[in-house]
Amino acid sequence: MIDAQRLSNSYLFYRGRVALYAILKAMGVKDGDEVAIQAYTCLAVPEAVLATGAIPVYVDIEETGYNMEPKVLEQAITRNTKAIVLQHTFGIPAKITRILTIANEHGIPVIEDCCHSMAGKASGKVLGSFGAATFYSFEWGKPLVAGLGGALIVNDSDLNDKIKSEYKSFVFPDFSTTFKIELQYQAFNFLYRPELYWPVKKAFHLLSRLGAIVGNFSNLDCAGLKRSPEFRQKMILSAQRRLMSQLQSLEEVTKHSQAVTDFYKKEIRGPGIIHPELLEDSKAVFARYPLRVKNKVELLERAKEQNIELAEWYSTPVHPVSIDQSQLIGYAANSCPNAELRCLETVSLPTGLRVNKKFLQMVRDFFSC
Ligand SMILES: *Cc1c(COP(=O)(O)O)cnc(C)c1O
Repeated sequence: MIDAQRLSNSYLFYRGRVALYAILKAMGVKDGDEVAIQAYTCLAVPEAVLATGAIPVYVDIEETGYNMEPKVLEQAITRNTKAIVLQHTFGIPAKITRILTIANEHGIPVIEDCCHSMAGKASGKVLGSFGAATFYSFEWGKPLVAGLGGALIVNDSDLNDKIKSEYKSFVFPDFSTTFKIELQYQAFNFLYRPELYWPVKKAFHLLSRLGAIVGNFSNLDCAGLKRSPEFRQKMILSAQRRLMSQLQSLEEVTKHSQAVTDFYKKEIRGPGIIHPELLEDSKAVFARYPLRVKNKVELLERAKEQNIELAEWYSTPVHPVSIDQSQLIGYAANSCPNAELRCLETVSLPTGLRVNKKFLQMVRDFFSC
């Protein structure tokens, strides 16, 4: 498990994507370079790549899994590939040994995206300790919620020196942004529970459209991203303080996730439902528990009616950008068929501390009819 010690030595940024941006810059990634990322991800990841001026190159995921497929990565690497972002989606460890071998053969650094995984392991080692660097996010939907924020841990000492000096130029967001983030966190903390997922989500989207809260995604324009002040900012202080205190509960969060996951594994079954597979020698701690289903649209409708938290992400290969629009961020329709298929068939359940016995019973009933 990532411990408080390790995280308290990390660099804290405005968001996870800013942490990714900072490490890409420290690696010297610039205009025209390529960065390999997986399809079946969220816009935050290519946003960080585009903000450096580089091109995100989308790598398809495993045939039946949720993470980058090494064979496809091999074909995607060119002379211009300057970094690989390896995402452990939902907290499921990626094929890290194979991917590190490929990366090392080509001399390309790997950055682990641990936004869903603070405690999972592969070959007995915690995720986030394999690549040159790793980053985390602490917004709504992640294992620890601190408000907005991201952390970067650098395992490579040269890169660490670079980041250490560059971090000095990062500034705090202005008062109005800080205030919005704080209000948003308090509202989330007060309102959110799995039975209120749908109304809270709706309110969040509405407020975000009105500009009353800090939304998740800006526009898709690369020049705009390059100019965006967000990519020069640190995590707000109140979120930093919350993060440090929440790290004390990481063990509890992890245990809870495991107990909830055990319940889902045992109690949810039915025709056409496929549970996630794990690699041998790896341990997942799920940020959310994904299921592949035959009737995603119908299930989501029913979940909404019954007020059951069932998330649709990722609904597109670069969530929430529609496939039609995804050219703007360098994704070509049909280029990653496994990712596109997973988008059509995946729903996911929460594993956080607010998942209680009552909710688990509701989930069991929901899937048994
Ligand atoms: C949440 C998330 C991020 C970063 O999110 P921010 O909103 O920038 O903090 C990056 N990658 C994945 C897979 C995520 O889920």
